[in-house]
Amino acid sequence: MITGREPLVLVAAAGFGLLVGSFLNVCIWRLPRGLSLVAPRSSCPACERVLDWWELVPVLSYIALGGRCKTCRARISPVYPLVEVCNALAYVAALWSWGWSPGALSVAVLGSFLIVSGVTDARHQLIPDAVTLPGIVVGLVLSSLNPGVGLVNALLGLAAGGGFLLIVAMVTSGGMGGGDIKLAAMMGAFLGWKGLVIALLSGFVVGAVVAVGLMLAGAKKRRDLMPFGPFLALGGLIASFFGQAVVSWYLGAFWN
Ligand SMILES: [Zn+2]
Repeated sequence: MITGREPLVLVAAAGFGLLVGSFLNVCIWRLPRGLSLVAPRSSCPACERVLDWWELVPVLSYIALGGRCKTCRARISPVYPLVEVCNALAYVAALWSWGWSPGALSVAVLGSFLIVSGVTDARHQLIPDAVTLPGIVVGLVLSSLNPGVGLVNALLGLAAGGGFLLIVAMVTSGGMGGGDIKLAAMMGAFLGWKGLVIALLSGFVVGAVVAVGLMLAGAKKRRDLMPFGPFLALGGLIASFFGQAVVSWYLGAFWN
């Protein structure tokens, strides 16, 4: 009987997470540019040389190449290996926390969707529908298989996430985009309504702290717009992995 905590299983999950992370990088680069995910083969963005297979090994290639293209010496963004490592960590943490279960699968898959959405929004100020719309469907399917959430709860989460951000978007007119609304709906489909509330609260708190910090440091002015998607995605990750802990802390801090 596999519990999911065996060292070999965790190593396999990490390896699989790195490979999927590498595909997430392809999505982050190609989807905002309207390019196909399957063809052509990956090339250096600077000199356009098609990359060899050994230049595409997650994390290891980046280290072996010293973070630069072999031929044109252009710098390769450290975001690539970071995405791969974060995705692998999400898979290992999901298995470690929930064992071999539908809940772990749901959290791991949501982690990948959140990494793509958050990083794409941070780099391109957009969250592709090609990520969030399939994400909503996958979230509903996985939640209906997951006794911890269930289909009704997932539908409530979807409606609450999409509905709440739609209202915020109408009230603030311009601060919140359609991509953010669909991202919140997707998070609700995976997390259910309680998890969604924790995700939104965490996202707003972290976003506000970072915005105030940047303003105090003089890096941003009050009127500069900051993409909200990365904070929403971060809130989703916090709710996925620490939801229970956040609720206990909150209840302990305010109801004692
Ligand atoms: Zn190059």
